[in-house]
Amino acid sequence: MEPDHKRTYLKLFNSESREKEKMINHGARLSIYTCGPTVYDYAHIGNFRTYVFEDLLRKTLKFMGFHIKQVMNITDVDDKTIRGANAAGKSLSEFTQTYIDAFFEDIDSLCIEKAEVYPYATDHIPEMIAMIERLIDEGAAYIGKDKSVYFKIESFPSYGRLSHFCLDDLKQNASLHNDADEYEKENASDFVLWKAYDESRDGPIFWESPFGKGRPGWHIECSAMAIKHLGETLDIHVGGVDNKFPHHENEIAQSEACTQKCFAKHWLHSEHLLVEGKKMSKSLGNFYTLRNLLQKGFSGKEVRLALLQTHYRVQLNFTMEGLEGARNSLKRINAFVFRLKNIESGETGLEYRDSLVSAFNQFKVALADDLNIAEALAALFNLIRDMNGLIDQGKIGEKAAQEIISTLVEMDKILSIITFEQSELIIPSDVQKAFEMRQQARSKKDYAQADHFRELIESRGYIIEDAPTGSFL
Ligand code: AMP
Ligand code: ZN
Repeated sequence: MEPDHKRTYLKLFNSESREKEKMINHGARLSIYTCGPTVYDYAHIGNFRTYVFEDLLRKTLKFMGFHIKQVMNITDVDDKTIRGANAAGKSLSEFTQTYIDAFFEDIDSLCIEKAEVYPYATDHIPEMIAMIERLIDEGAAYIGKDKSVYFKIESFPSYGRLSHFCLDDLKQNASLHNDADEYEKENASDFVLWKAYDESRDGPIFWESPFGKGRPGWHIECSAMAIKHLGETLDIHVGGVDNKFPHHENEIAQSEACTQKCFAKHWLHSEHLLVEGKKMSKSLGNFYTLRNLLQKGFSGKEVRLALLQTHYRVQLNFTMEGLEGARNSLKRINAFVFRLKNIESGETGLEYRDSLVSAFNQFKVALADDLNIAEALAALFNLIRDMNGLIDQGKIGEKAAQEIISTLVEMDKILSIITFEQSELIIPSDVQKAFEMRQQARSKKDYAQADHFRELIESRGYIIEDAPTGSFL
């Protein structure tokens, strides 16, 4: 079925205006900047909640006919990477490469589509230095007592407009700010653009600059890479909610003070992931990387669905039961695909068409409404329930089955959770056949036969679950 892009307008919540705004497709490329990983360790499932959401955004935009240029930076220099490299006695690049490789493997496991550009911070130091020089010239930055360079937030009157803090509140409550070296700055809320070299802290890691040896601050990294690869005004800027303040606020201030142009037209922030209702932390023993979950025997697609299924503006409470639930949902979807692929004959009435068209429509409309994934998934599961009922009654022939599969393929361009190749499914064909026979017997109310097939299936080590949305293995 051909998706009808023209009638569905995509609306996305803008954290700055705090309203859902219509995304207008001018046919040109939409520029998207997504804050990427700091590569000092393996990314955790909280990070992947954000990256999976960004993938949903990317795929929905493409599905709606937008042409995307997405940039995701790799933060390969900051306090943590420098500390890690020095502790391991490695060069910075040697140290970060392990985690960069792991990150790309992990996004593959989660079926996250690659961004167009992954710039590395260490490849953009000259651009960062040029921006800082400009900010000093403009009077928006100064060299502090410790020889670090700071951005003067007083020089930027709209500071706080994204996170909806006002400048005076910020000055009074400088503890909100993350930067620690307060005595070196004119104002405690000013933030660092260039961190002066400290031999005991940085060891052999530094860059030369007009302001002396040192390294860039984290915030300026994103501004410089975003502007270099996407231009001075971004269409969309995305990140986790913890980045809104101060990171994104600082990105706006330093970029706009440099360019005098709006830095990003639309901001999206995903809420955090919690584990069993608590903030994930190594000390609480509730800290998971993707690798931890794969080692427990879960697949990338199962984890993806568990991370995907909660709306991005709602905190996601990750639990093992939730992950098991995602596994069962995928079993149900994949068993349905398998059923469809094995239909060889059957009368095709017209009953299936209305359900199919309306499910696909519901799916699109839900996503177009600020990525309402719960509604979109409900459309998919309702479709499966309805179609399973029709298959049980022998009302889906081969041609209809093909049409349903094509619709699932379209949906999965966004969801990326379905397994279409039977060879990837773990259910052996004799078990699947017995399952079909049992379903047919049940629809004819021949419960003795149905029980016979159930026993056969169970003797092969498989369980049938009869859920309201249909039966599955
Ligand atoms: P970092 O590597 O810490 O810079 O984080 C990379 C991305 O993951 C950023 O967009 C963060 O906002 C996001 N992030 C970090 N922790 C979590 C969490 N617990 N839940 C969701 N997103 C997170
Ligand atoms: Zn960033």
